[in-house]
Amino acid sequence: MPDEPNSPLQFVTRCVHGGVHKDQQYNSVTTPIYPTSTFYWDSLETNSGYDYTRSSNPTRKALEENLAALEGGAGCVATSTGMSAVHCAMALFSPGDHIIAPADLYGGTFRLFDRYLTEKGIQFTFTDTTNAGKVASAFRPETKGLWLETPSNPLLKVTDLQAMVDLAKQHQCLTICDNTFLSPYLQRPFDFGIDIVMHSTTKYLNGHSDVVGGCVIAKTEEHAKQIAWICNALGLACSPFDAWLVLRGVKTLACRMDAQQITAMKIAEFLNQHAMIERVYYPGLPSHPQHELAKRQQRGFGAMLSFDTVDGRPTAERVCMQSKLFDVAESLGGIESLISFPVTMSHASMSPEARKNAGITDKTVRISVGLEHADDLIADLAQALSG
Ligand SMILES: *Cc1c(COP(=O)(O)O)cnc(C)c1O
Repeated sequence: MPDEPNSPLQFVTRCVHGGVHKDQQYNSVTTPIYPTSTFYWDSLETNSGYDYTRSSNPTRKALEENLAALEGGAGCVATSTGMSAVHCAMALFSPGDHIIAPADLYGGTFRLFDRYLTEKGIQFTFTDTTNAGKVASAFRPETKGLWLETPSNPLLKVTDLQAMVDLAKQHQCLTICDNTFLSPYLQRPFDFGIDIVMHSTTKYLNGHSDVVGGCVIAKTEEHAKQIAWICNALGLACSPFDAWLVLRGVKTLACRMDAQQITAMKIAEFLNQHAMIERVYYPGLPSHPQHELAKRQQRGFGAMLSFDTVDGRPTAERVCMQSKLFDVAESLGGIESLISFPVTMSHASMSPEARKNAGITDKTVRISVGLEHADDLIADLAQALSG
């Protein structure tokens, strides 16, 4: 793992040490949970630095310091869900602004953009962000933002962050990257000039499928202040309990991702040669259309993969329902492997037409690879596929 240029400490060390040592009274090694709504003042002019938990809380602050350090940003807000993080970042824009976003955006983000924010007067163009020409032709005079998500969900298409930042700069546009699928361990969007990074911490950052949360991280102090103001004004922050869980989870981020992506590669190779599988979507396979870009831009290929079955729904349904180690469930990034059918699950809120444009069909099955042994997971998929 290469060193972070702006930090004297390696990434894995920062995962463990970021934001701890908050307890000055008893010197606890972990950051305590501060379940308080309010903080008493020492005088009418002075307090401990905290006054009210919606605005700030020591447990949440610890998590925010940790996540800002991992992404290499100036500041972070930890929010109640990934969607509240999306909402927080989008509050930087105003009615009349036009935003360019990927056609195969995360389903919940698509719904927020296409329905709620469109009704509030923000305009969107959804396009294939893996195609720089298409993105270039989507800019308008009122374009203020370029929203990116790479690799995409569920087809793992990789967008060239540097190329997108170059385009956005020509149009003085803000760039926002949803980095949920790889985590800062495997991809640092700020290195390519992205302005704002967001995560659903529900996924890899927490990693244990026991909390929902999100975060928004800004590269500059100025954006960090704006994001903190919005988070407080809209009341988007997460609870101290949830912050504590994510902070505990993030300490093992690097070793979880290392193990999970090694297994993902083995599963991708197994599926790739299986007679019932038509196509595997995994950036680690040399046959992936953006394999070279993924190698350049990412520090690893991640632990998400999807595949198309040869006959569509029958085999898709069989593999989902007959696998024993993979729970059929939405979400991803936890230590337990999950399998899902995007058409009726994660991408059900997309219209059939939007799904078709994004290339998601009833052949498509998505897998989130956990920490189980690769041999067990492959044997389980083999028996489920053989029916
Ligand atoms: C899950 C997810 C979200 C939304 O996060 P929640 O925590 O479910 O609100 C946003 N983007 C991506 C890529 C996700 O996977």
